[in-house]
Amino acid sequence: MLEIKCPVCGVVGEEGDFHYGGEAHITRPASSDPENISDNEQRDYLFMRRNPKGLHFERWRCDRGCGKWFHAARDTVTNDFHGYYGITELPPVALMKQATGSWAQFFKDKLDGK
Ligand SMILES: [Zn+2]
Repeated sequence: MLEIKCPVCGVVGEEGDFHYGGEAHITRPASSDPENISDNEQRDYLFMRRNPKGLHFERWRCDRGCGKWFHAARDTVTNDFHGYYGITELPPVALMKQATGSWAQFFKDKLDGK
């Protein structure tokens, strides 16, 4: 059982009280340059997702509370949530530094301004 806390309204509930929205921080390529999207960029946007063993960054919606979307950092091994943050935000730096694998590179690029 997952215990989740909405960072917007503060409601605490189980997995059924929330809606899983998949991987966090996915950017639609057409948002920035719709005329020059390669097939690989479109394929990656539609189908390629991380599947880490350990800390993962996800989108969740508060179904039984405020109805808002938010981000959460969850350990896929223990199912413990390590933090929550706004849907338009990056995680706190301490959480970014806990990331491993491709998440670690993703956040390093963000911190470096790429
Ligand atoms: Zn809420």
